[in-house]
Amino acid sequence: MKRAKRPLELSFRLAWYILNKKLRGQKRFPLVTMLEPLEMCNLACIGCGRIREYKPVLDKMMTVEVALNAVKESGAPIVSIAGGEPTIHPRIDEIINSLIKQKYFVYCCTNGLLLERLLKKIKPSKYLCWVVHVDGMEEKHDESVDRKGVFTKAINAITVALDQGYRVCTNSTVFRGSDVEDLWEMFRYVSDIGVEGSMISPGYEFEAAPDQEMFLTRGESHSLFQKLLDPAKTEGMKFYNNPLYLNFLQGKRDYQCTAWSNPTYTTMGWRKPCYPLADEHVQQVDELYDDKLWEKYGVGKDPRCANCMMHCGFESATIFQAVSSPKDWATLIKSGAAGKSGITAA
Ligand code: SF4
Ligand code: SF4
Repeated sequence: MKRAKRPLELSFRLAWYILNKKLRGQKRFPLVTMLEPLEMCNLACIGCGRIREYKPVLDKMMTVEVALNAVKESGAPIVSIAGGEPTIHPRIDEIINSLIKQKYFVYCCTNGLLLERLLKKIKPSKYLCWVVHVDGMEEKHDESVDRKGVFTKAINAITVALDQGYRVCTNSTVFRGSDVEDLWEMFRYVSDIGVEGSMISPGYEFEAAPDQEMFLTRGESHSLFQKLLDPAKTEGMKFYNNPLYLNFLQGKRDYQCTAWSNPTYTTMGWRKPCYPLADEHVQQVDELYDDKLWEKYGVGKDPRCANCMMHCGFESATIFQAVSSPKDWATLIKSGAAGKSGITAA
């Protein structure tokens, strides 16, 4: 069966957007709005910081109007919807349908448990991609989400969505105990089913997560991703992240974090400074672009940044640096034409 593909329009719109901002002399601007319309979830994954950090406000739901205003305020062409589990939000279909109508590229991150129910309310569109959380094959994934049967349900939801013509990716977080062979098997399996690509990122050491031993140090991430992305083993697998970021994960390239490009809006406001850290919540997105703020955060500045390699901070960095390197820019354009995003959802 012919599967929906990532539209070329995304690469062109993103390139045009970045060039426009640069020509206007803007130093810091958003590429992806991370929208978290609620923090409640129907799972309690062992590596999840959100459901623990926002425990006092788990019942809070963003209104449709507030969600759409946050996306407009940020102005980024891509919107990544996460949380919590977005499919629990009673008006998520209105939020997504409105964003599609306005031609934002929407990536909705979900554990897949309630996805089929939502498919009845949102039509397939080139502007929408479901991003389903899968951390391994059945045993490993169910262990990661701490509930049996979730892998089967997630794969079923992926298959149904693909058969109905939706774009679908998977999203995997890699931890210290991750089983590389199991991950290869899963990446191959979802590629064979027909997903657009697999997004990968090391987990962030959220202080609120119960097991701090599971998070990788920077050096450990380099070794694990060198093994995981070995070209001899990954034939037939489709990774969605851009090749420059995949090289960064393997320690072959170095970047400073540009997390201001992924402003994150929650039921409490914009996380300041970034998606993993919320030393404050603020009501104006512009506060996240302040030069002074970024003198304090990033690798070598704040100890909590030392092991962070998340795509919200570093995949955008590969893109910003590529703007001044024709060779890297060509690599991104080529990978975009091959169906990789250049930017991935969290
Ligand atoms: S599915 Fe996502 S939001 Fe829910 S507990 Fe797991 S990681 Fe957290
Ligand atoms: S390096 Fe620090 S500032 Fe950047 S995304 Fe990671 S935790 Fe946030």
